[in-house]
Amino acid sequence: MANVTLMALQARGKVRRFIEAKLLSEDTEALLAQRKGECNRCGACCKILFRCPFLGTDAGGHYTCKIYEHRFEQCRLFPLHARDLLELEEQCSYTFEAEEATAAAPLAAPPFAK
Ligand code: SF4
Repeated sequence: MANVTLMALQARGKVRRFIEAKLLSEDTEALLAQRKGECNRCGACCKILFRCPFLGTDAGGHYTCKIYEHRFEQCRLFPLHARDLLELEEQCSYTFEAEEATAAAPLAAPPFAK
């Protein structure tokens, strides 16, 4: 059975990020500066609520974005807040120093957890 609480959180997050990307498109540098780390290409953010149809894999088996150069603004900005990480079913390699306490762990276990 699907985790309804997580799905509701993800749906709200998708709408929020879409709106934020439209409204904050010129004012995100300060928020991005609070983000620490680098993307490890786990693909978790491309599977929030549903698997993005543009998510692919390269010859080495790493996730890639088929439209990376033209990807949506909300994808380029993910994660913009620590609360974005709460929607993931895997661990994102980005962290937020100021907000870490609220984003300690994803709500659901990774789908391939042993
Ligand atoms: S969840 Fe985080 S580490 Fe994984 S692909 Fe998205 S931004 Fe990169």
